[in-house]
Amino acid sequence: MSQNKTQKQTRLCPVSRKCGGCQLMNMSYEEQLRFKQAKVKKLLSGFHKVLPIRGMDDPFHYRNKVQAAFGRTRGGEIISGVYQSSTHNIVKTDSCLIEDKKADEIILTVRKLVKSFKLTVYDERNGRGFLRHVLVKRGFTTGEIMVVLVTGTTAFPSKNAFLNKLLESHPEITTIVQNINNKYTSMVLGEGETVLFGKGYIEDVLCGCRFRISPKSFYQINPVQTEILYGKAVEYAQLTGKERVIDAYCGIGTIGIIASKGAGEVIGCELNPDAVRDAKINAKINGIENIGFYCADAGEFMLGMKEQGEKCDILFMDPPRAGSDKKFLSSAVTLSPERIVYISCNPETQQRDLYYLVKNGYKVKKIQPVDMFPFTAHVETVVLMCRDVKK
Ligand code: SAH
Repeated sequence: MSQNKTQKQTRLCPVSRKCGGCQLMNMSYEEQLRFKQAKVKKLLSGFHKVLPIRGMDDPFHYRNKVQAAFGRTRGGEIISGVYQSSTHNIVKTDSCLIEDKKADEIILTVRKLVKSFKLTVYDERNGRGFLRHVLVKRGFTTGEIMVVLVTGTTAFPSKNAFLNKLLESHPEITTIVQNINNKYTSMVLGEGETVLFGKGYIEDVLCGCRFRISPKSFYQINPVQTEILYGKAVEYAQLTGKERVIDAYCGIGTIGIIASKGAGEVIGCELNPDAVRDAKINAKINGIENIGFYCADAGEFMLGMKEQGEKCDILFMDPPRAGSDKKFLSSAVTLSPERIVYISCNPETQQRDLYYLVKNGYKVKKIQPVDMFPFTAHVETVVLMCRDVKK
């Protein structure tokens, strides 16, 4: 790295090299967008022309979900922050350029309270100690804030006094949850959960629909760009009100619920049971009756649909970074939807999956990159595919 670039990087963020989360910190935002456009072009332009990436007007502090690990320095000082990339060494951070400012303030307050209440922090080496992580989720439209205290023990010393102080400092917090994680694991959240204050979840509004978000369920972390992403996905589906739609890897049901207003029927499937529970509630909150959600592996689910000779006109698919498996893709081809809208957070696996679909009768019609994660090297894409020949 040139000296100039290193200087620029340290000026913006003092811990960026240690943290490693923002791989593009040394680029201006315009350079970042060019970098991402080139990345998508390199991987996907063989299928179709790539539309210009949709960037943010203000690319800072967009993360509405923030988590901090708690621990001690060698000298014994209690710190919180992010893990240094590929390690479990905590890099002390007080604020972060891409995280929600309010969430960072709350985490700092928790750090102070842990010290003043003389609480312990979790030590991964011996599995002892109390506070392990703090997770904050904030509803972009509603302003609701959930604080999840992830602890190594069920017992919570000075619980009431601690909560009172936290709420006194941040009356904007709407709910506090204790999550117990006493396992040797790199997962942040454990199984057990107790609601300590408020309703135990937050709600947010996106694309005119209301969504419930629990501690464990997936929700896009950049709400401004998510509206653009979902808007494109639904536009590409070209719904007329009659279609039978599948929303695969549906999370808390966002895409399916937004699309349901223009569709005949929507079927969502998702592996995480907490997310499915939220999805069903979300359908109710929005008064939507033409939607059903199933807790299943998406590949198994599609195979089941195929074996039962079910029909599907439009398929939305939004898999995790690993992309889809053969079972999913081959069943999708047999179900033969007229259009497939493939939303991806990893153009590499998307490229692999698109090859399969193109080989099996689909044509790529649109490729729209969206910058969901400024300063990181990640890029999201929405791809529209149409069935080439009528079966
Ligand atoms: N469409 C949703 C979620 C996308 S993230 C949204 O926009 O919010 C990908 C989702 O796939 C996650 O909710 C994850 O729990 C789910 N998932 C991961 N592997 C899966 C599988 N094999 N089958 C079904 N869902 C899966």
